[in-house]
Amino acid sequence: MTDLVILGESMLELSQVEPGLYRQSFAGDVHSVAVYFKRLADAEDRVRLLTAVGNDSASDQMIAALLEEDIDTSLVFRHPNRQLGLYIVSNDACGERNFSYWRSNSAAREIMSLLRDATLLAGDSGLLPSKLVPCPDLFFFSGISLAVLTPDTRPAFWDLLLQLRDAGARIVFDPNYRPKLWASRKDTRTEYALAFEYSHLVLPGIEDLEALYGVQDFCGACEFLEQFDIEELVIKDGPNGVYYRGPEESFLEPITPVEQVVDTTAAGDSFNGSYLAFRSQGASPREAIARAATISALVIQHKGALVDKSIFKNLIES
Ligand code: ADP
Repeated sequence: MTDLVILGESMLELSQVEPGLYRQSFAGDVHSVAVYFKRLADAEDRVRLLTAVGNDSASDQMIAALLEEDIDTSLVFRHPNRQLGLYIVSNDACGERNFSYWRSNSAAREIMSLLRDATLLAGDSGLLPSKLVPCPDLFFFSGISLAVLTPDTRPAFWDLLLQLRDAGARIVFDPNYRPKLWASRKDTRTEYALAFEYSHLVLPGIEDLEALYGVQDFCGACEFLEQFDIEELVIKDGPNGVYYRGPEESFLEPITPVEQVVDTTAAGDSFNGSYLAFRSQGASPREAIARAATISALVIQHKGALVDKSIFKNLIES
């Protein structure tokens, strides 16, 4: 059995159906990683989302949506006076999608303070907060997870990460980069240097590395990341293939480009979730990459981050 804990923010999404009418759902990079991991992993594997929500009915509905996907919500904290982050997806006059965000005061920004309060309340004295005992096998976070944590709580996050590492968790990081969430690029680079240093497995996209470090291809990405002691690298570059570098082998796995891309939302997140699921089932890196790529290819042929559960089940069984 694999036990995965994922830290980050899931938001309330309102997506425009027609002018003045919006469909509600819940989404976020880590939400998608959790959903695709759970849908593809063995039934006994567990995924817990470490996040924070409010005390309102939208937060209740988010928890229900997570439970609907069999995601464990025992690490979802309730903030006494903050709410879920919100974003609206609307179409402009030319049919282009526009995203507007309200997340600067969201509950998830305070995940670390809420975990600290719970730890104090429980009188924990062990290596790990009791909420995280037994130590998970895998701990996943992304550049977005890091960006949303209020900066004064980031040192507590790094402490937690080192505790998890020492207790035997495998640390997994996707340096997803959203410039608007950061005070400066320098700030991001400082935090990412720690993330690279502490992670066993890093799943970057070339675009993010290019925006931050001017890296343009797989070779440049490997050269740049050489300075950190990262055990396994899985580097994504849209339809241009996936490059793997691990202790035993390195290879470029080609991707069959999708002809009719509908929406690339969650391409990388669905890849991450399914890659982790396939690896935890014993697939080799090459096999897990090839299978994860077929899942991402499915996802980008549908609108939105999460393909409807029953449609998804039919697609992967066919
Ligand atoms: P991110 O969403 O992190 O930017 P990528 O764009 O690199 O990630 O996409 C993640 C994965 O999704 C790729 O590794 C690939 O497997 C799949 N993918 C993305 N774009 C395409 C495409 N046009 N055709 C086929 N697969 C794609």
